[in-house]
Amino acid sequence: MFRSLHMKLMLIMTLLIVSLMTVVGAFLVNSVSGFYLDQFYSQMQEVFQNDAEFVHDLRTAGADEEDGAEQLRLMLDTYAGNLGVDGTTRNYYVLDGATAAVLASSAIDAATVPMTDNLSAALTGEVGDRSDAAASFMDVAIPITRGGQDYVLYIKDSKQTVQNLNNEMITLILESLAFGLAISVLLSFLLSKTLITPIERLTEGAEEVAAGDFSHKLHVESRDEIGVLTATFNGMAGQLQNTIQEVENERNKLDTLFLHMTDGVVAFDSAGAIIQSNPAAEEMLGRSLPIGGGVGYDALFGDIAGIEEVLEPGQKGYVEGSRELNGRSLELLLAPFDKDHQAGVLVVIHDVTEQHKTEEMRKEFVANVSHELRTPLTNIHSYAETLVDSAGELPPATEKNFLNVILSESDRMAHIVQDLLTLSRFDSGRSELNLTRFSFAEAIEAMVSANLMEAQRHGHTLTLELEPSLPEITADRERIVQVMMNVVSNAIKYTPDGGKIQVTAGRTGDDRVWLEVSDNGIGIPEKDRGRIFERFYRVDKARSRESGGTGLGLSIAKEIIDQHRGQLSIVDKPTPGLTIRMELWTEGPDHGRA
Ligand code: ADP
Repeated sequence: MFRSLHMKLMLIMTLLIVSLMTVVGAFLVNSVSGFYLDQFYSQMQEVFQNDAEFVHDLRTAGADEEDGAEQLRLMLDTYAGNLGVDGTTRNYYVLDGATAAVLASSAIDAATVPMTDNLSAALTGEVGDRSDAAASFMDVAIPITRGGQDYVLYIKDSKQTVQNLNNEMITLILESLAFGLAISVLLSFLLSKTLITPIERLTEGAEEVAAGDFSHKLHVESRDEIGVLTATFNGMAGQLQNTIQEVENERNKLDTLFLHMTDGVVAFDSAGAIIQSNPAAEEMLGRSLPIGGGVGYDALFGDIAGIEEVLEPGQKGYVEGSRELNGRSLELLLAPFDKDHQAGVLVVIHDVTEQHKTEEMRKEFVANVSHELRTPLTNIHSYAETLVDSAGELPPATEKNFLNVILSESDRMAHIVQDLLTLSRFDSGRSELNLTRFSFAEAIEAMVSANLMEAQRHGHTLTLELEPSLPEITADRERIVQVMMNVVSNAIKYTPDGGKIQVTAGRTGDDRVWLEVSDNGIGIPEKDRGRIFERFYRVDKARSRESGGTGLGLSIAKEIIDQHRGQLSIVDKPTPGLTIRMELWTEGPDHGRA
């Protein structure tokens, strides 16, 4: 009931008025009673102590008269004004000094007076003038001896006057209270208008902000504390909105990063349930990772380390692991997040398959290079050794033959080293293309005629078929011819004598040209086709070496065509024979680039 500020304010005002009036009332009533009491006793003192003549008269005047009480009554009547005796609320009594019987009085029908402390004191001969604020009356009793007779002059006030006055005051106070209450209700309404309405508006605004609506601005009406509070609130809401916006942006950024990062990330709570995962993690682990779903930490990574171990990873701060899954090599890093509170575990999965493959290839390449260089070196060494050991003993023809072998083997080594250098230049990006505009048809014709003799030596028929009006192309002529030469010389090499080698060329659309070299030779088995562009890969090593091949020709050719943004591929045709196809942009490698 008293929860609203209106009611509280009203209650406080009412309590304030009531307590104020009560205090004022009590104070007034008390003061009036006190004043009346003081006045009574000072009046009595004035007459009975200070007025020496009157006191003397009381004892002596007409002392020899018989009716002493009557004498006293007359004297007291005379002094009634001084004593404040009015015959109703305040009366005097002339009592018998021994029996306290009423001998005379200003009150009508006063037969007896009730015994009081003051009265009993006077009966023993002492002046009874002790005041008692709590008593319902005030009295003073004075013993008098006159004419040998003891009397007690007894003045008693019923306090009726002060009672009446107090009643009057209480009525007045109650009336003022009612009036004050009415004013307090009115005031509290006015106050609530100026104080509580802005507070209510502020509360509504705070509720809207709490519900997430920051657009609502409160109007600042006053310049008092509430006005300052409202302005501060508006500022705070704006600040909060900015902060929330910043946090939101950060979260979006992180979400996007999390979603698109190539590393897989899975987060678990301390109980091992998934609380976050990204698509990369699902892809690498080959399973869906629903948040809070059935699959938990133990099932996924429990074999690497228990969750307790990861939550307390020791000095290193994380646990490492690796896994081979679906032909992939994965490296895992398991670390606790919010370590102090052991909030959970974060697992980062890194796919190192390519890295491993590259490493493997590098090792294989080094082994291949060593092997390829060692063979001619061994030959050179053994022939040279024989020549040294049997110097002058060998027939000159054999000696010459040996020297020719040494020469051709060192040529072969030089050839390999040259090819390796070319490849390394491609790898390091140091190989620049020397682009020129030249006729594609003319380059092919020149290449074919350069191979004609060699083809004829093997009894091959080498035919050339060009589509009419082949365009000019932009390319590194020397290198393109090198590629074509390599492909055609392979066809010559890997086709048994008397074979058929066809060179055809044409254009695709307006912007591409192609060249195909097909033979009816030994061909390449299906399983090896994907690998012939690899370095040192040869289907038949002995045959290749015999014919002076290094196993690097096609990989260099592929690099050159890749650099031209063209394509070099094996045409999917059944054996016998092999068809290699080359495609190039007529406008050069920059074709289509922005
Ligand atoms: P090589 O110097 O050994 O000829 P290449 O890189 O030019 O090296 O060729 C790689 C391998 O591809 C060759 O060793 C060979 O086994 C195979 N090859 C290339 N061209 C042909 C072809 N026309 N017919 C059959 N096999 C081929």
